[in-house]
This record gives sequence, structure tokens and C-alpha cells, in this order.
Amino acid sequence: MSEAKFEQIGQVLRENQRFAVLSHVRPDGDALGSQLALGLSLKKRGKDVRIWNEDGMVEKYSFLPNANLLTKPPTKPEDVDVAVALDTAIQNRLGTTVAAIKSAKVWINIDHHPSNPGYGDVVYIDPHAPATGQILFELMTSQRLPIDPAIAENLYVAISTDTGSFQYPNTTARTFEIAAELVRAGVDVGRVSQLTYENYPRRRIELLRELLGTMRFDANDRVASFSLSLATAKKLGVLPEDNEGLIDHLRAIRGVIVAVFFEELADGRVRVSMRSKTEKVNVCAICEKFGGGGHVLAAGARVRGSLAEVERRVLEEVRNVVGHSGS
Ligand code: 5GP
Ligand code: MN
Repeated sequence: MSEAKFEQIGQVLRENQRFAVLSHVRPDGDALGSQLALGLSLKKRGKDVRIWNEDGMVEKYSFLPNANLLTKPPTKPEDVDVAVALDTAIQNRLGTTVAAIKSAKVWINIDHHPSNPGYGDVVYIDPHAPATGQILFELMTSQRLPIDPAIAENLYVAISTDTGSFQYPNTTARTFEIAAELVRAGVDVGRVSQLTYENYPRRRIELLRELLGTMRFDANDRVASFSLSLATAKKLGVLPEDNEGLIDHLRAIRGVIVAVFFEELADGRVRVSMRSKTEKVNVCAICEKFGGGGHVLAAGARVRGSLAEVERRVLEEVRNVVGHSGS
């Protein structure tokens, strides 16, 4: 089944010339690494490739090989043959990149979010894959798309970041096999790991200190949460990418099943980020109640309301679910 689908995608990639490779706003390592990996590989095949993200390249991932090729979309729309959406569960999370595409003959949608409804003309969604980068590795090897050291490093970072450094439960033997292949293809593990995990700006740790000051526990210490107000974000000069992964400090606490991070946004909404340690508590289902989505163990939503109000409503729902989970 996947081979037939890869063949179909491979054919579209071979038979067309002008590509736009897109991913979601507030991009993470899987989004940016996947975009660059596929974009670079298509370029090596002589294709005319645009690699666009609404947020452009974020500082944190600017070490990715050929990071400069990933740009914000142009204001003047362009015609392409194929638009490829990577790692993006709902089309509107592609943000302003969609408006930058005047026309596309084919939309390809490659993702690993179970909540992805399958928008687009050629769709490949594998909810068991721990990262879109892992799907791309399988696609690229199956379709003999080139994987040089730069492409390998982008795929490696995509997979490493989305698996929490090969720790989350969806990390399988296949994930390690792929990682091994990528190392053989030229990834310098020590160097890349240091750039990914030991290169944070000081303000990120100052942010963590502030967040821990708001930390609270619910449901007999099985739920932990913290919050970031706009005022604190402004005081510290926080960038959106700074808080990626901070929620893991809550998840890492013994006895905690659900971790929640609330971030007050400038548009009157609150970004809710949620993690679960057990399949018995599906945080995607909780976030869907608030208009969001994601995976069983990692999900999010943007909820209208004040910080205090959203905290109250969301934590009440989490308490209900955790209380009835038997966990
Ligand atoms: P994070 O907490 O890292 O921002 O997101 C965790 C997961 O939830 C990601 O897979 C992401 O795609 C999904 N997610 C985060 N925010 C939203 C949202 O507002 N809407 C939807 N549908 N999914 C989200
Ligand atoms: Mn992903």
C-alpha cells in the first residue's frame, strides 16, 4: 500500500518541474528539516524549487544545512506545478504560504498527524510514523531521490526532534535503522546534537525559570501545568520558538500523566500545548474539544479567552478525563 502510494508521489515529483515545499506556521524541527530535505533533494534532481514557511527560518534551526534556502513566501503569488504540504495537520496552518501560490496543478499532502483530514490530491498520512522526516526517508529511498550529507542531516534533525531524541513511544526499530542510515550518509551525531540541544539562548532558560514560578499541580499531582503571560514574554524578549520542548520539564515529573502549557497570545487567544504519558489519556481528544488537534500523546489548541479563563476551562476538562482514565 505504501509502496504504491510512494510510486504515485514519485511519479508526480518526476513528471513536474516547478515545486513549492511548504509546512506549518510556528515550525518545529520536523517541519523545517522535512521542508529542506525534500526541497534539496528535488533541487538535486534539477527541479525549480521554492521552500516557503510563513515564519521563514527561525533562529533556533538556522544551523540546518542550506537553511538560507527556506524563506518567507513572496507577496506576489507564483505559479507552480506541484505544492507539497509537509507535517501539517490542517491546511490553514500553512498560513500565508497558500496565498503565495497562484496556481498548482497538484497538491501533495504528506504527514503523520492522525487528525489530518487528507486535504489535497495525492495524500500520504502515516499516523504511526514518529516524524514526517521518517516518512520522507522512506519515500526518498523508495523513489531513488538523492540523500546527500546535507539532506541526511535535515532528515536526522526532523526525526530526532519529533521523537524527543528517540525517546517517545512511537520510536521504533525502524526509526533507529533510518537514523543509522542517515549517520552512514554523513550525519555527524555529536555536532548535530549539540547544535540542536545544547545551543539555547540564555533567554530560554530565563523563560523556564519564570514558567516554573507559575507551576501548579492538579488531580492528585497527575496533572502539571505552567503559563506564560504576554507581559512576561515581552519582559524577556521571548521568541515563539523559545518554548519548544519546555513542556517536557513537566512531563518529566514522576507521577505526572498530563502536562499543559498555556501561552497568552497577542490576538486574544491562548495557545494550549498538551502532553500525555499514557495512551489511556488522549490529549488530542481533549484539544479537539477546544478546536485544536494533534496526536494522542502530544496535542494543542488556540483557545479564545483570557489566560485565567482558558486555564480554568482547560484544566477542568483535563481533570475530568484524568479522573476517569483509571491511570
Ligand atoms: P505543540 O504543543 O508542540 O505546539 O504541538 C503538539 C502537537 O499538537 C503538534 O503535532 C501540532 O501539530 C498539534 N497542534 C498544536 N497546536 C495546534 C492547534 O492549534 N490546532 C491543531 N489542530 N493542532 C495543533
Ligand atoms: Mn511532525
